[in-house]
Amino acid sequence: MAELKQQVAIVTGASRGIGLAIATELSRAGAHVACVARGLEGAVAAAAGLRGEARGYACDVADSSACTELVKRVEEELGPIDILVNNAGVTRDNVLVRLKDEDWTTVLDTNLRGAFNLTRAVARGMMKRRSGRIINIASVVGLTGNRGQTNYAASKAGLVGFSKSAALELASRGVLVNVVAPGFIDTDMTAELGEDTRSELADQIPLGRIGSPGDIAGVVRFLAGPDSTYMTGQVLVVDGGMVMHG
Ligand code: NAP
Repeated sequence: MAELKQQVAIVTGASRGIGLAIATELSRAGAHVACVARGLEGAVAAAAGLRGEARGYACDVADSSACTELVKRVEEELGPIDILVNNAGVTRDNVLVRLKDEDWTTVLDTNLRGAFNLTRAVARGMMKRRSGRIINIASVVGLTGNRGQTNYAASKAGLVGFSKSAALELASRGVLVNVVAPGFIDTDMTAELGEDTRSELADQIPLGRIGSPGDIAGVVRFLAGPDSTYMTGQVLVVDGGMVMHG
């Protein structure tokens, strides 16, 4: 499988969980992957486990100038960027009335502004080369809402509007922008829920299980690869059937 041969991909939040699975999947498909996280050690360790010319980079996606610098470095070290996966994300859950200003700012700055920072930084190059794939990792919560997650749901719903607008702007230049909205996936982000809650949740999922990071990575590879040439501005829900809209 070398469908992404010689292509250069940036994956944010690649040191663990869904991002690590995406980085692994893209590298297996032949891409050279820049693994990005705030922690350099985790990013480098992730890259060390990949095929091709993978490298780890420390970057806080909420920091606009750090993102511009990151793109410059990746282009110098790996080459022009073909694929951007905005996966880095955080939660700061609390009911609305108890949510602190910083809980709002941290989540919006990482999940939404982070995607804007990097999309803007890669867009010009992709437009010039008349090709590129941008894949943003949202959440079903951005489509349905969720108690205790007004900040997180707003960031993920914002990502959908952002992606559709960017898809419209970039389509004529051959740059495709799509969203993957995962349901409940087994990672550190969801690990703090107890076994009882997890099995109750699994019971509500038509496919009968919590998702694995690999379930998301395969869909991202499809969106990044040659089998997906006529889709842009779309939201692919990958949640075991948990949310079905008519
Ligand atoms: P995770 O296990 O908590 O991993 C988060 C990753 O993002 C880590 O690599 C972390 O590394 C990085 N990160 C966090 N803040 C960052 C920042 N400001 N700049 C750069 N990197 C940053 O999360 P996950 O469960 O794999 O989730 C990945 C994405 O999927 C997120 O966008 C999440 O909202 C979304 N999602 C997850 C689920 C789920 O059930 N797990 C469901 C729907 C959507 P550092 O800490 O070193 O920065």
